[in-house]
Amino acid sequence: MNTPASAPPRPGPPLWLLAELTYRCPLHCVFCYNPIDFAEQTQELSTEDWLRVLREGRELGAVQCGLSGGEPLLRDDLEVIVAEARRLGYYTNLLTSGVGFTAERAQALKAAGLDHVQLSFQDSTREMNDFLSHAKTFELKRRVAQIIKSQGWPMVMNVVLHRYNIDHIDRIIALADELGAEYIELANTQYYSWAFVNRQQLLPTRQQLQRAEAVTNEWREKLASRMRLFFVAPDYHDGKPKKCVNGWGSTFLTVTPDGTALPCHTAKMLPGLAFPNVREHSVRDIWFDSEGFNRYRGTGWMKQPCASCDQREQDLGGCRCQAYLIANDPAAADPVCPKSPHHALVQEAVAQAERGGDAVIEHPLVFRDPAQSRRLAREAAADTAG
Ligand code: SF4
Ligand code: SF4
Repeated sequence: MNTPASAPPRPGPPLWLLAELTYRCPLHCVFCYNPIDFAEQTQELSTEDWLRVLREGRELGAVQCGLSGGEPLLRDDLEVIVAEARRLGYYTNLLTSGVGFTAERAQALKAAGLDHVQLSFQDSTREMNDFLSHAKTFELKRRVAQIIKSQGWPMVMNVVLHRYNIDHIDRIIALADELGAEYIELANTQYYSWAFVNRQQLLPTRQQLQRAEAVTNEWREKLASRMRLFFVAPDYHDGKPKKCVNGWGSTFLTVTPDGTALPCHTAKMLPGLAFPNVREHSVRDIWFDSEGFNRYRGTGWMKQPCASCDQREQDLGGCRCQAYLIANDPAAADPVCPKSPHHALVQEAVAQAERGGDAVIEHPLVFRDPAQSRRLAREAAADTAG
């Protein structure tokens, strides 16, 4: 029997502190997860602010520290931040495109105590890698992989999958093996931020996905002893809402470059929610007491069909940003769910992907860059005003 939806539970501590050190980035990925209006967010926390955030997060109980961006290597205080994170007892993980990761910088980061590096590739071919990020980085990334290995770091290779690269999955995994990756994360695109702008072009077909998963499984058997492969299934196609960020305000605490604290790195897009800033509030107050972190905790906020659904404790209603982007209601069931009244919109997007390439010609890809960011922000503001 279903129990009634409940009020927000008092959470445990955040396990992950994700420090988005900057939105600056030399790449222009068409699926970038940074906010659409990143170009208007130019303020960055000072070194002292970040060190205080690290201390407060650790006091609260966080044990993993992700350092991401944008490109975190563009911060010249990265080594100072890593050293403090290490001193405090975090396990530190750098998420990088590789740009700026020179042998000298690697040595300095090693000396500072960096534990782990996640290197992103856009594809296994130079042409597609460089096209998708609108930057010539393929050879650089290969060199960076060698530097990572030479310093003895475990290496995660991360590749975001979509229509343009998913058929190269065999070569992508072979490349990871050649470069000595211990892990490869094959993450099907999540359609928010820039990926939502480019959704029509990026959504793969079912056949592409099935083949990619089959190829990954073959490699998994072959590489069992030397590499772990994670294939992150796409929710649009399998109709299973994901427990977003492992549950709103349950595990992850993201701090954006300007100090805004978020339960998920894209949550700032949600209307009607005020997220606190670490310049004005302690991390403890933000985590336990802020409206932004409490709004979608647990199940008490749910409306139908989630409120009486027997899956609600498992998926917590799915992704709030996806609900907002597709259903225009952040408290709706995630529209990837077949029980959502807005599910037909997801089905239509998938059907369009099945029908093929016309959309690509009608709507050219939008690359993440400051000019596009300002244009899209202006259009969004005009939509809201109108
Ligand atoms: S997804 Fe691409 S453009 Fe966005 S921050 Fe990462 S490397 Fe930069
Ligand atoms: S209705 Fe769908 S999204 Fe909501 S709890 Fe049930 S399965 Fe999850």
